[in-house]
Amino acid sequence: MSTQMSPKVHSFLSKPLQLLIGGEWVGSASGKQFETFNPATGAVLARVAEGDKADIDQAVKAARRAFESGPWPRLSPSERGRMLWKLADLLEQHLDELAELESLDNGKPYAVARVADVPLSVDNFRYMAGWATKIEGSTIPVSVPGDAYLAYTLREPVGVVGQVIPWNFPLLMAAWKLGPALAAGCTVVMKPAEQTPLSILRLGELIQEAGFPPGVVNIVPGFGETAGAALAAHPDVDKIAFTGSTEVGKLIVRASAGNLKKVSLELGGKSPNIVLADADLETAIPGSANAIFFNHGQCCTAGSRLYVHESLFDKVVAGVADAAKKIRVGPGLDPATHMGPLVSQEQLDRVSGFLESGEREGARAVAGGKKLGGPGYFVQPTVLVDVKPEMKVVREEIFGPVVTAIPFRDPQEVLPTANNSVYGLAAAVWTRDISKAHLLAGKLKAGTVWINCYNVFDAALPFGGYKQSGWGREMGRAVFELYTETKSVCTRL
Ligand code: ADP
Repeated sequence: MSTQMSPKVHSFLSKPLQLLIGGEWVGSASGKQFETFNPATGAVLARVAEGDKADIDQAVKAARRAFESGPWPRLSPSERGRMLWKLADLLEQHLDELAELESLDNGKPYAVARVADVPLSVDNFRYMAGWATKIEGSTIPVSVPGDAYLAYTLREPVGVVGQVIPWNFPLLMAAWKLGPALAAGCTVVMKPAEQTPLSILRLGELIQEAGFPPGVVNIVPGFGETAGAALAAHPDVDKIAFTGSTEVGKLIVRASAGNLKKVSLELGGKSPNIVLADADLETAIPGSANAIFFNHGQCCTAGSRLYVHESLFDKVVAGVADAAKKIRVGPGLDPATHMGPLVSQEQLDRVSGFLESGEREGARAVAGGKKLGGPGYFVQPTVLVDVKPEMKVVREEIFGPVVTAIPFRDPQEVLPTANNSVYGLAAAVWTRDISKAHLLAGKLKAGTVWINCYNVFDAALPFGGYKQSGWGREMGRAVFELYTETKSVCTRL
C-alpha cells in the first residue's frame, strides 16, 4: 500500500457521487454539491450531491413504496437473510477498496480500517442475516374467564426507518444500523455524515449488486441541519435511529415529536477506565492507552477518564504517556502511521480548544498537549494530570486523543466519581480480583462494562447507553426491539 490513492478508488471518486433513491443514482433536487476533505492534507477529496428536504421526501416516498407494495414485503425471511449474507460477501471482496476509502475520508489508518471497520461490518451483516429467520413471537396463555382463547404475538417490521449516522466509523455505523433493519423487513433512508459519505455510497452500489429491490435502501448524503433534520421530522417515517452527539440527539427527539415516530439514540460518553491496585500492568497499561487512543479518541466509548489506584498512579501514567509518545501520527495511507489526523478542521478546533482550556485550568500534559502544524488536522496524543473533577476536560466529551488521569484510594471512593457523569455509555475495570471486578461491574452506571479489556465489540453483544448516552440497544437480539412492533392476536375459540 503506497500513500497514493489506488486506481480503483480513483475511478470511484471520478464518477458523479449521487443520491441513491428508489434504486436509481440521481443528482440532488437543488443541483447542489458539497465537498469532502482529505483530513491528512485538508485538500478537497470529492464532491457529492447535497441532499436536502426535497430529496429526503423523495427517498421516504421510495422507501414507503418498497415497504408497502414492492417485492420486499413478499420476500421470505430466508431470502432476506441470504441477501444480507451476499452483501457481507461483497463487502469482503472489496475489503481493500473500502478500507482505503474509509482511510481517505475519515483519516484513520488504512491498516486499522482493514482489520477493524470493514471486517466488523462484514461480521455484523452476517450475524444479522442469521436473525432474519429467527424473529418470532410467542403464544401467550390468557386467563379470561369463560371461553377458551388462543393468543399469540407477531413481530412485524416497524416500517420506514430513517437512519442518521456519524463520521467516526462510517461504514461500520451503517452496517450496525442497516443489518437489523433489513433483517426485520424494514426499508431505510440513510443519511451519512457530511464529513464521510464515501464508503456508504460505495456500500450503496454493493447493496444494488446484492439484489436488494429498489427503494429498500435509500442513501441521501447532506448536512445534519438540513437533510438530517428533514428526515427526523418527516411525518411518514415510522422510526428514526441516530448515532452522534447528545446535543443533536436531543434535537432528534424534538423533531420526532410531530408524528411520535419511534426513536433510538446512541450518543456521547465520558467513560471511566479504572485500574485497581491489583491490576496486571502488562495488560492494563497498553489497554488503557488503547482505550483512549484507538480511532484517535474519536469513539463514543473512549476511555477518557483514567482512574488509577494511588499505589500505581505514577507507573500507569508513565506507561500510558510513554505509549502516547511512541504513537506515530501521520496520513492514514502511510503504512508507518499509527494514528491519523482528526476528521475535520472543526474537530481539530474543538480538540485544541479543550487542550487550551485544560492548560488554562491548571492541567499538566505529561504527553502531547498540542495540535501539530498543518496541512491536515493532526493533534498530539495527550495525557493530562493534575486535573480536578470540575474541569471542562474531565466533565465534557472531547472526542479526541486526550485522557485525564486521576488517582484514587479505594474502590468505594472511585465508584461515585466514575458514575458522576451525565453520560453512561461504557466503563472498564482492570483487576486480578474477579469478585471486585463483578461487584464494580454491577454498580457502574454504563451500558457496557469491560473487565481487563477495552473497546471489545461483537455483533452479538447489545450496545447502548445509560443516562444521556442514549435510548435503546443496538446489536444482539436486543436490537430487534428497535426495528419491530409487537402485535397481539387474540382469538376466542
Ligand atoms: P459530531 O458533532 O460528532 O459531528 P453530530 O451529532 O453533529 O456529531 O453528527 C452526527 C450525525 O447527525 C451526522 O450525520 C450529522 O449530519 C447529523 N446531524 C447533525 N445535526 C442534525 C440535526 N439537527 N438533525 C438531524 N441530524 C443532524
